[in-house]
Amino acid sequence: MNKIPILDLQQEIEFLREKLFGAFEDVLKSGQFIMGPQVKALENELADFLGVKHAVALNSGTDALVIGLRALGIKEGDEVITTPFTFYATAEAIQHVGATTVFADIDPETYNLRVESLEEKITARTKAIIPVHLFGQAADMDAIQNLAKKYDLKIVEDVAQAFGGTFNGSMLGTIGDVGCFSFFPTKNLGAYGDGGLLTTNHDEVAEIAKMLRSHGSKKKYYNELVGYNSRLDEMQAAVLRIKLPYIRDWNAKREQAAAYYSAALNELPEVVTPAIHPQCNHVFHQYTIRVSQNKRDALKAYLEEQGISTMVYYPTPVHKLPIFQDVEEAFPVSEQAAAEVLSLPIWPHIQREVQEQVITAIKNFFKG
Ligand SMILES: *Cc1c(COP(=O)(O)O)cnc(C)c1O
Repeated sequence: MNKIPILDLQQEIEFLREKLFGAFEDVLKSGQFIMGPQVKALENELADFLGVKHAVALNSGTDALVIGLRALGIKEGDEVITTPFTFYATAEAIQHVGATTVFADIDPETYNLRVESLEEKITARTKAIIPVHLFGQAADMDAIQNLAKKYDLKIVEDVAQAFGGTFNGSMLGTIGDVGCFSFFPTKNLGAYGDGGLLTTNHDEVAEIAKMLRSHGSKKKYYNELVGYNSRLDEMQAAVLRIKLPYIRDWNAKREQAAAYYSAALNELPEVVTPAIHPQCNHVFHQYTIRVSQNKRDALKAYLEEQGISTMVYYPTPVHKLPIFQDVEEAFPVSEQAAAEVLSLPIWPHIQREVQEQVITAIKNFFKG
């Protein structure tokens, strides 16, 4: 039996092969490898696609979070609230700018920030909220926007897993003050290397972000801030420009694959399939089920034996990582999610036969 990876990029690469090699050739011939015409064009195309005033291409999603927070003036002494059920980079960015990470627990169905928990954590020092649109589905942006208005807080959306997702019809990454995207190869819109994007409708935030991207300078060799080297390179920009026109279709295909899994797995009482919030277009960066009664690890091991790769995103909630050892508070919903979630193989062109193999194996496991 063929092994089934959690993500297969080879089909996509084959499909794009000619265009990719053509673009690589163009970049090589241009002799411009950093901040050239590809990046400029990509930024325009992304701003257009997302419907946002400014799109600033960066080196990674992590840098987008750090630069976004700094461009909003978040600094030492400030508190930023986020979810502990995310990739570490979300909280790491808060620590990087010298602010304090404050966690709030999540909703057990969507795995995104629970607004009631969030409001309890707001203090006089709170300056911003980072909702993470986990697995491709939006956090409750209506409620988060209401809180932000009520307490005068900034919103930095972590859209690393949700490129093209929407909430009430608005593109994610354009609702808050800043949107932070990752083009890490496994993300829905992925480069073949690192890359990231900051989006904003605020002119001043965009201007500072662009300065921070290039060593804190507007003019070359005239540095005004302590910045970063966080530029996107031309090769990655060229790859992303080739992929962008397909992203709607690819996200739709992910959704169809997810619906196919859910229709079959809903029959199993031991499995909870992903809940889709009616206000969201879920773009299924991950297709994540819940398996209770301490059976998750056994199921994962069984699938591995059958040649099926699965992943646990995330095995340790961020507040339980060594770096946050001072945080004593419990976040029971996040902790339970970490013990029960399992992400199954998904990518836009996953074949139904491959999904059938995964479904059959899961059913066999529960038959005992
Ligand atoms: C991938 C990811 C990031 C970081 O993006 P990089 O481009 O790898 O730096 C941040 N937040 C979340 C939720 C992610 O999934």
